[in-house]
Amino acid sequence: MPDYRNTDTATWLKWDQQHIWHPYSSALHPSPVFPVSSASGVRLTLADGRRLIDGMSSWWSTIHGYNHPALNAAATNQLQDMSHVMFGGLTHAPAATLGKRLVDLTPEPLTRVFISDSGSVAVEVAIKMAVQYWIAQGKPQKNRLLALHHAYHGDTFATMAACDPVNGMHHLFNGVLPQHFFCDAPATPFGSEASAEDMASMRAQLEQHHQDIAAVILEPIVQGAGGMRFYSADYLRKARALCDEFDVLLIHDEIATGFGRSGELFACDHAGISPDIMCVGKALTGGYMSLAATLCTEAVAQGICQGEAGVFMHGPTFMGNPLACSIANASIDLLLSDDWQTNIQRIEKGLNQGLAAASALDDVADVRCLGAIGVIEMKEPVEMSSIQPRFVEHGIWIRPFGKLVYTMPPYVISDDDLQTLCERMVAVLREEAQS
Ligand code: PMP
Repeated sequence: MPDYRNTDTATWLKWDQQHIWHPYSSALHPSPVFPVSSASGVRLTLADGRRLIDGMSSWWSTIHGYNHPALNAAATNQLQDMSHVMFGGLTHAPAATLGKRLVDLTPEPLTRVFISDSGSVAVEVAIKMAVQYWIAQGKPQKNRLLALHHAYHGDTFATMAACDPVNGMHHLFNGVLPQHFFCDAPATPFGSEASAEDMASMRAQLEQHHQDIAAVILEPIVQGAGGMRFYSADYLRKARALCDEFDVLLIHDEIATGFGRSGELFACDHAGISPDIMCVGKALTGGYMSLAATLCTEAVAQGICQGEAGVFMHGPTFMGNPLACSIANASIDLLLSDDWQTNIQRIEKGLNQGLAAASALDDVADVRCLGAIGVIEMKEPVEMSSIQPRFVEHGIWIRPFGKLVYTMPPYVISDDDLQTLCERMVAVLREEAQS
């Protein structure tokens, strides 16, 4: 059997293109994928030796950059003890330490932690918690969600059903997906007060359907994959109040926003409110390993377990994986050992300065930054097959989708690299406009 690690790149790359699914890839017209041989700090090294400044943090996750000595040490040390043991009937210090950190760092009412293996599973767990809670309360008809237009919560079936019904994958899987209720996406921009009109759509859905709704689910402050939309903290406060008024639970999906990305440790901290259930993932392990968690309040936890089942009905094989938990603990320590908030403000300033020039381009609709997230929204969708190689030629790693050319760099990016990253993003868009 060939070992492609010792074979020339072209050979295994061809096999990869013919046999391996990449995210959202076509078996008929595979788009180019770039072979990476290593990554360190904010640099990805391609197999041909080219080095790229990473503008994506591998989809929000590698906040401390790649190959970090503290995270490497945490992994190596944990491997000496155990990489994995089942979590049913057994427990270990890495999981308890992580649970304690998450309970301490998230808003006070969140006291119970379910540690799972990916963001989508964390959202599935949150949905199951909400549904099981209402079954246990003798209200089994409260089993649907109220979600937002432009929402994105994952690719599994339960999570797809809570994604935007137009931009998401609903039309393809209609008939298979559970049917939920949707309200308008928040239109009030970040930093503004939400008026009664801004809340009207959510209120109307709750007024009409609250007897069938288990929970409102939303991505606080930043709607990510559904449009990179930044919205009002006041909207969140008012959504919390509406959930209380209509007796439905509130689920916050902080999988993208958690661990400082939006400028607060968790995006709900902008609003000073707490959900009943919160999901975290992505940056939890500093992007080293897949791990996620779903936290809930004592009231939700007790409520679930007072029911007929007596237990919360979920328990995946890799739940509480010690290797991932140890790395997560090291990642959280690393984040908190630094003045992370000042650092995020530095990145926000750099993004604002660096991306401003894009506003002058005719085909750019909007440029916006929040925390360590910078977005250039184009008037038309970009052509991935032509623009992606151009970014690589310019020595940066940017992966646009639709009309959005965006960056969320690792928090360790230097001012110089940030400036270069932004300049090259704008340069590529200028070149594309001229070609
Ligand atoms: N929720 C949000 C807000 C996300 O951005 C994502 C991932 N893009 C998910 C859920 C799903 O996480 P995962 O890809 O780890 O399953």
